[in-house]
Amino acid sequence: MTDHFGSCLCGTVRFEVQGNFDSFYLCHCRHCQKDTGSAHAANLFAQSAKLTWLAGADAVNSFTLPDTSHNKSFCKLCGSALPSIQLAGLLVVPAGCLDTEVSMLPTAHIFTSSKAPWDGVFGEVPTFEKLPE
Ligand SMILES: [Zn+2]
Ligand SMILES: [Zn+2]
Repeated sequence: MTDHFGSCLCGTVRFEVQGNFDSFYLCHCRHCQKDTGSAHAANLFAQSAKLTWLAGADAVNSFTLPDTSHNKSFCKLCGSALPSIQLAGLLVVPAGCLDTEVSMLPTAHIFTSSKAPWDGVFGEVPTFEKLPE
């Protein structure tokens, strides 16, 4: 059993997850591209872990895309992605909002059929450890 802690960018919302994650998916579907503004979502999934809001629970908003099961929770002040509980009690935690280290490696890339043309070309693009001069 591991405890994980996380927060949003502005620090208003803080939470704890008690328990272990079952899987870790990098989803490249169009919904996740739109909702993250990035190449893919990076979500940890847990069937039995328990989510507790430690601060700012009233700043947590959620959105479900009509006619889909695509759901997102976010801080209404800073817009950061936050954990949500989806159908059948499945806890979904965006990996980037955790402050404690995630030791689990991604389980799989999914929906790669819709990935952006610029996604996954890291080997061919210059990299800098920080902002280049
Ligand atoms: Zn926030
Ligand atoms: Zn997706």
